[in-house]
Amino acid sequence: MFVEPHFDNSEFRPRTGWLEVIAGSMFSGKTEELIRRLNRAKIAKQQIQIFKPSIDQRYHAQHVVSHNSNAIFSTPVEQASRILTLSESADVVGIDEVQFFDASIVQVCSQLANQGKRVIVAGLDLDFKAKPFGSMPQLMAVAEFVTKLHAICMRCGGIANFSYRLVASQEEVLLGETEAYEARCRRCFYTGDQEKNKIHPQHEIQ
Ligand code: ZN
Repeated sequence: MFVEPHFDNSEFRPRTGWLEVIAGSMFSGKTEELIRRLNRAKIAKQQIQIFKPSIDQRYHAQHVVSHNSNAIFSTPVEQASRILTLSESADVVGIDEVQFFDASIVQVCSQLANQGKRVIVAGLDLDFKAKPFGSMPQLMAVAEFVTKLHAICMRCGGIANFSYRLVASQEEVLLGETEAYEARCRRCFYTGDQEKNKIHPQHEIQ
């Protein structure tokens, strides 16, 4: 269970900044957890700013929206560096779908934390090929706190760590997750890949 770090409430600012990473597969509740932490910071009267990459147009452009429709206002940004200029007055900076940002996101998060801000990022740790996604490995390494969430395997009901793509596209970014993906455990993920290769032998050939 994640225990929120101590804040100096007399100034409504943290004593020092840090980075929290919420990682996991699709359907693991990452955005819900991000929103839960941000809402608690709001209750503590901290200034919060939330960003997401403008690539993610699945839902309303101005919101981080989790699957249970528990929405929170966010700002879509194209470049990671924009987050620095837009979060000057924030005590707490939240970033959703962080795996979609360019590599400079690691430096941006470190810089924000160095300024004394609490930075909370949520993202997919693995892509649909089970390879580390974007800058997630670097973010997880430099973070003070890493929370790895799991989904439930839609095949066997076990603990799911992988996002299994049901359609044949090889694009790394494929949005519209409920139709295109299943959360799967290790065994069901790789069993499914073998079956796919039997039906479509070209599947893994780039
Ligand atoms: Zn399974």
